[in-house]
Amino acid sequence: MGVTLLKKLPLPIRKYLRMFSSLAESLNYKIFLVGGIVRDLLLGEENLDLDIVVEGDAIEFVKVFSKKLKAEFIKHHSFGTATLYLNNNLKVDFATARKEFYPYWGALPKVVASTIREDLFRRDFTINAMAMSLNRESWGNILDFYGGINDLDRGLIRVLHPKSFLEDPTRIFRAIRFEQRFSFRIEPHTFSLLKEAIRLGAIKWIDEHRIRDELILILKEPAPYRYIRRINQLIGFSFINEKLILKKSDFLLLMRIQRALHIYKKKFKKCRELQGWIIYLAGIVYKLTENALFQFFSQFGLRKGERKIILSIKESFSKVRHLKRVKPKVGIFEILKPLSFEAVVFFYAYFKDKTIRKKICVFLEKLAHIRLKLRGEDLKRVGYKDKTNYTKIFKRLLHKKIEKNISTKSQELKELKRLLT
Ligand code: ATP
Repeated sequence: MGVTLLKKLPLPIRKYLRMFSSLAESLNYKIFLVGGIVRDLLLGEENLDLDIVVEGDAIEFVKVFSKKLKAEFIKHHSFGTATLYLNNNLKVDFATARKEFYPYWGALPKVVASTIREDLFRRDFTINAMAMSLNRESWGNILDFYGGINDLDRGLIRVLHPKSFLEDPTRIFRAIRFEQRFSFRIEPHTFSLLKEAIRLGAIKWIDEHRIRDELILILKEPAPYRYIRRINQLIGFSFINEKLILKKSDFLLLMRIQRALHIYKKKFKKCRELQGWIIYLAGIVYKLTENALFQFFSQFGLRKGERKIILSIKESFSKVRHLKRVKPKVGIFEILKPLSFEAVVFFYAYFKDKTIRKKICVFLEKLAHIRLKLRGEDLKRVGYKDKTNYTKIFKRLLHKKIEKNISTKSQELKELKRLLT
């Protein structure tokens, strides 16, 4: 079965896998494809994230390979892992087969080199704990020590041992992610272990940065509304802030955000791709006080740009509400231009008012893309020397361009001369 499954991968990837295989043989190592890609090959889902486990020294393996092919790589000595960068933007993660020990629950594990069997045992769920041999004599064979194929067939998310959620509570979020993504069920015993871990407060044991990473993965799923509901049902959102409780109106907003993102993708092709996940996150946290938001940002280690988007949303409700009354296009432009597209889409979802939504659409379709063709040197050329005023003049010129539907450079020049007289 595995051999045919590997044929589903694009030819260039298969060629690399053959190369890895012969190198492993010459080094007397064993290598295996593991984790999500094996699961997705079995499910018939597309996945090109190559994770390879080496019974041997993964870093040495990558070093030798990259020397032969002159490929770039990054190594992480403390984890015994390395990432190889190949042609066509292909990235392959290699890890030395390892066993894990948790010094205390929720901590990062200590690792020692081990076998593929033990490496698979440290994984989150049976469906993610399968491997596929890349060794010549067993090419494509599936290693399924823990019943992963059976659980895939039955649509079950199952941990490998009872302490799994306690050792690594991020798995609680991961269980929700896979349950929702594949419309699987969390197997009853696993479900009771998950609930018990939540009851014991396990989520508080982990570093917030690790929760953030799992939460972002959830918010990046194609339609995360259902996932957010499930987090709310099982965990709640007090892990973000003690006082954060989502109400019906918040869920309606999150649902509208999902719809708004869909419309944005379909209708506004000229606009850049959005970081949709941050709009959902804003939908979850925007009601927190400014102080609580700052605390959340720093505990969860949000980046500067991400903080800026959420804060700009928090500060702009009344300005954007004013869209209802502004008439000329310049008014719409002035209100929405300072905001990121993420914030604009948030407000499209937030305000159900038709006039406001129409104006946001005009902005996204047209106004946001209007640029002046004239540059600083054109101002100089018409004899305007005072550089300190350039920004002001360009702003006035841009407004004229919007008002009068000016499109050509010569029309802009004419308008500029009019402004300067
Ligand atoms: P996706 O399709 O979302 O990328 P994935 O299964 O590939 O899902 P990754 O987060 O890329 O997920 O992890 C790769 C593999 O590493 C998983 O399939 C699983 O075997 C293992 N893994 C990841 N996180 C954990 C964890 N917290 N505990 C145990 N094993 C994990």
